[in-house]
Amino acid sequence: MTSQKGRSLIYDSDGFEYRKDKALKCGVLLSYRCSKAKCYGRAYQNKATGILTVTKNHDHLPPESQKTDSNCVRRC
Ligand SMILES: [Zn+2]
Repeated sequence: MTSQKGRSLIYDSDGFEYRKDKALKCGVLLSYRCSKAKCYGRAYQNKATGILTVTKNHDHLPPESQKTDSNCVRRC
């Protein structure tokens, strides 16, 4: 059962967008992949703590729409 359409999207602290991939380690960790098709970015989320850990870096910058803070700093 995989849903390809914008459900279960989450964002890390940098504003990267992920979609759910699969559960790991008996459901303790959730695996997420970057929502960008050609990006290899990956992250794991600990279900107990909700902490998201990036395991593979992205080949692009985070989408600007989610984060306006850093954008402001750059422009001001
Ligand atoms: Zn990415």
